Amino acid sequence: MWEICVEDTFSSAHQLIGYEGKCERLHGHNWRVVLCVKCKEINDIGICVDFKKLKFILKNILEDLDHKILNEVPFFKEGRNPSAENISLFIFERAKEEINGGKVFVSSVKVYETETSYVEFKE
Ligand SMILES: [Zn+2]
Repeated sequence: MWEICVEDTFSSAHQLIGYEGKCERLHGHNWRVVLCVKCKEINDIGICVDFKKLKFILKNILEDLDHKILNEVPFFKEGRNPSAENISLFIFERAKEEINGGKVFVSSVKVYETETSYVEFKE
């Protein structure tokens, strides 16, 4: 089994409704995201999935979050706080739609809220 990962970043604002503390106020982060896929087979030239293709998919997903107030993005309007946990879920679900099927499956999404704190979503 191979796991292939790509990274990208985006910037956005959010506020955590119901949180007791500073994070309830609107503030911003530069988020770092690591998207990983797994596959059991490699092709004739020794590749599971092209890094370029994965980066393109991740960039497109992050485009929907970049320079936005996340609380206004539809996914987070339905009573879902735009926490790092829910951001990782959003990216995982979107990536699954683009990637799953055939021989490649999304395995995890990490969302770094700061240099030293991250959330990882796996199914
Ligand atoms: Zn925050």
